[in-house]
Amino acid sequence: MLANPLHDSLHEILQGIDNAARSAGRPSPRLLAVSKTQSATAVAKLAAAGQRAFAENYVQEAAAKRAQLAVEHPGLDLEWHLIGHLQSNKARDAADLFDWVQTVDRTRLVAALARHRDDARPPLNVLIQVNIDDEAGKHGCRPDAVATLAETIAGQPRLRLRGLMAIPAPAADPEHRRAAFAGMHACFIELQHRYPQVDTLSMGMSDDYPIAIAEGATMVRIGTALFGVRAGIGD
Ligand SMILES: *Cc1c(COP(=O)(O)O)cnc(C)c1O
Repeated sequence: MLANPLHDSLHEILQGIDNAARSAGRPSPRLLAVSKTQSATAVAKLAAAGQRAFAENYVQEAAAKRAQLAVEHPGLDLEWHLIGHLQSNKARDAADLFDWVQTVDRTRLVAALARHRDDARPPLNVLIQVNIDDEAGKHGCRPDAVATLAETIAGQPRLRLRGLMAIPAPAADPEHRRAAFAGMHACFIELQHRYPQVDTLSMGMSDDYPIAIAEGATMVRIGTALFGVRAGIGD
């Protein structure tokens, strides 16, 4: 049997997550494996090592990868998250392909996703993407728009509001990033008070997940540290 190098990197990351959680005195967050630009074969290998939740940035890339997995690994039951910006005209495909959409940042998208989620399936899990640094030209809603958007999502029986997601500015120094994560956590706690089903704060990537965990992330999204450096496409 060939060694599976993804097995080692998965266990290294899970260890890193547990260590960060333990030293912060918080429960260990879920690991989301970011498989953008990675092959269906790499996904299957990581799944064989025990990983169940995967994330993609593009609807089309996810559709192709899932089609290939269905042929080559029938019966492989994975959970799929969309973490890339979603255009309204792709809402139908997204509602069909994914179990979670983490990038809901405007009301128009809410109605489109709800309309296209099949009644026979469980409701689509939804996170509100927040532009926590209030960067011009970045996706995500402003922190002060979360309450209204949450109310719209909660009013849709085909959607289930699960929490918040953020991608803090990459250029910011670690202390700035820590402040951004802490701001997200405050926003998350406030949302949880109003909606008891809210249980997910998705933040932290390969280079900053320990800080995100220290500030209360319940889900981290990791690509590079699991699969290795991407080829540079699809970011
Ligand atoms: C690519 C991506 C990640 C993973 O980034 P890494 O640095 O490779 O861990 C996480 N979240 C989002 C939204 C991404 O686009």
